[in-house]
Amino acid sequence: MRRKLVAGNWKMHGSLADNEALLGAILSGLHDVKADVAVCVPFPYLAQAKARLAGSRVAWGAQNVSQYARGAYTGEVSAAMLNDFECRYVIVGHSERRTLFGETDAVVAEKYAAAQTAGLIPILCVGETLEEREAGVTEAVVSRQLDAILARSGVISLANAVIAYEPVWAIGTGRTATPEQAQAVHAFIRAKIRALDAEVAEHLIIQYGGSVKAANAAELFAQPDIDGGLIGGASLNAEEFLAICRAA
Ligand code: PEP
Repeated sequence: MRRKLVAGNWKMHGSLADNEALLGAILSGLHDVKADVAVCVPFPYLAQAKARLAGSRVAWGAQNVSQYARGAYTGEVSAAMLNDFECRYVIVGHSERRTLFGETDAVVAEKYAAAQTAGLIPILCVGETLEEREAGVTEAVVSRQLDAILARSGVISLANAVIAYEPVWAIGTGRTATPEQAQAVHAFIRAKIRALDAEVAEHLIIQYGGSVKAANAAELFAQPDIDGGLIGGASLNAEEFLAICRAA
């Protein structure tokens, strides 16, 4: 039986004061949460997340990482730096990074490898755009995104990773994939990995992300291949985020 993981992606939101209140409210509402819980915060707030969450059930992580270890890469943050703040997770290949910041499959694969080399657990985001879904190439797109990782790091690397299936058309749009649509892609991903390594596939956590809310979380998480969620907007509201965690 796989554990479920609910991770918040705060994106570029927050302030020291707001985070203090949000983290405090999350910590005080965890009693009936069975799932693993994490928050992925903007880089400047990693120290705050560590100070507030160390010793609690809530893990923390970052939303991006450089593919480079060190050097003249102004503005970048290395995996070793994330380790200094005891991050457990780092999101790689979020669709906003891919589409707004030009991250290619190859760059994402390098970032994934850099995260793992440093001992971090990458949360690898994959997913198709609306045009791709309508063109019937969802599986081909997800497959291509996974192949870049498999070619760079091998299937065994997925023993220490999380995949988040996030259809781009569902992120921040209020339009969620139906449980059946999401399950179909999750099952496709697991079958693809199973063909390479059944054990890895069986234990692989595949989260769903894209407008998950308290109101739709339970039916999504009830699907056999959906192992929790990557939560954007709803993770900024403690009540809503905790309700999603409870649903997992
Ligand atoms: C995300 O940022 O990964 C995400 C899924 O966002 P939202 O939940 O707001 O759609």
